[in-house]
Amino acid sequence: MAKIKAGVLGATGAVGQRFIEGLREHPWFELTSIAASERSAGKKYSEAAKWRLESELPKDFAEMTVVNVDPKEVEADIVFSALPSDEAKRVEAEFAQAGFAVASNTATNRMVDDVPLLIPECNSEHLEIIKLQQERRGWDGYITTNPNCTTIMFALTLKPLMKFGIQGIHIASMQAVSGAGYEGVPSMAILGNVIPYISNEEEKVEIEAQKIMGTFDGQKIVYADFDVSASCHRVPVMDGHTEAVWIKMRDDPTPAEVRDAFLSFDPGLSDLPTSPKKAIIVRDEPDRPQPRLDRNRGNGMSVSVGRIRPGIRYICMGHNTIRGAAGASILNAELLVKKGFLG
Ligand code: NAP
Repeated sequence: MAKIKAGVLGATGAVGQRFIEGLREHPWFELTSIAASERSAGKKYSEAAKWRLESELPKDFAEMTVVNVDPKEVEADIVFSALPSDEAKRVEAEFAQAGFAVASNTATNRMVDDVPLLIPECNSEHLEIIKLQQERRGWDGYITTNPNCTTIMFALTLKPLMKFGIQGIHIASMQAVSGAGYEGVPSMAILGNVIPYISNEEEKVEIEAQKIMGTFDGQKIVYADFDVSASCHRVPVMDGHTEAVWIKMRDDPTPAEVRDAFLSFDPGLSDLPTSPKKAIIVRDEPDRPQPRLDRNRGNGMSVSVGRIRPGIRYICMGHNTIRGAAGASILNAELLVKKGFLG
């Protein structure tokens, strides 16, 4: 099949660079447009973006000219949005109206009723709501979203536990600095320190998982019936969000039953190129998972789980700019292709 043309909006930022990396040798998508603010537009990508990833920036991409975030300037079938939320609010709808598929990382549209908030391993059936979105708004294109980078780590681990009857979740996060973007947290503030506040983070984490684990009834997504209570903290780690999770469940499963549920979890997505062999990896060592050791498992797409204790309590950890952002969006786009919404 001919490759599907893909653009990245906000391509110079922390998440934007992960998109460029994830699309580099993608078997289904070809990067055809790179867009950022007017500060960057007109420059070569290598001049506009300070490339900060360990992988080399491919020469062809380095030479591409950055365009404005404008549907008339972007040549693509799908755009991946890594824009600041305020900018995304105006722009993502414009692109969808102009016929683009929009796979968004930003918070702007996540909780909008007719926009799917996707984790392919958890709720691929929610994609069907796109048809209603297009009908209601008269769009040729559409918007899909992936969750906040903290939500996605623990929400993925909820799927195999839903059968035990989840009643309530407490979570305490230890979030990497890359989660705030390149200009986000001054080094003087975070080195040797922990900051027990991330603006608007707890508010997002406390509402998104209920939508993800909800059911689509043909007209709307009916939210799952559990509460989430979150406390979010910034820690001096480059990449990888670690989360301590407490879950109250109706059936009160043992740690062994929870471990088995994680180990046998198979979402059946092995035909999607970005899908990891194991979405959830169980670590039995007492001091794992750790961000430096485990964040790149499954090319950054696996969530590692450990320290499963009665209660139920456990630790989960994943790569925030890959599984929590760009990789999640690319996986969503692959699901769109598989389900016939794209390509
Ligand atoms: P970032 O490093 O600050 O990058 C922001 C990008 O947006 C840059 O490419 C910037 O272009 C562009 N931009 C800024 N203002 C713009 C404007 N007015 N018009 C057009 N483009 C503009 O931020 P980030 O961490 O990559 O985050 C991007 C989005 O993803 C945010 O909504 C964030 O909440 C979300 N997100 C981030 C993470 C994470 O782990 N970092 C995870 C999940 C979701 P210039 O270089 O030209 O300024």
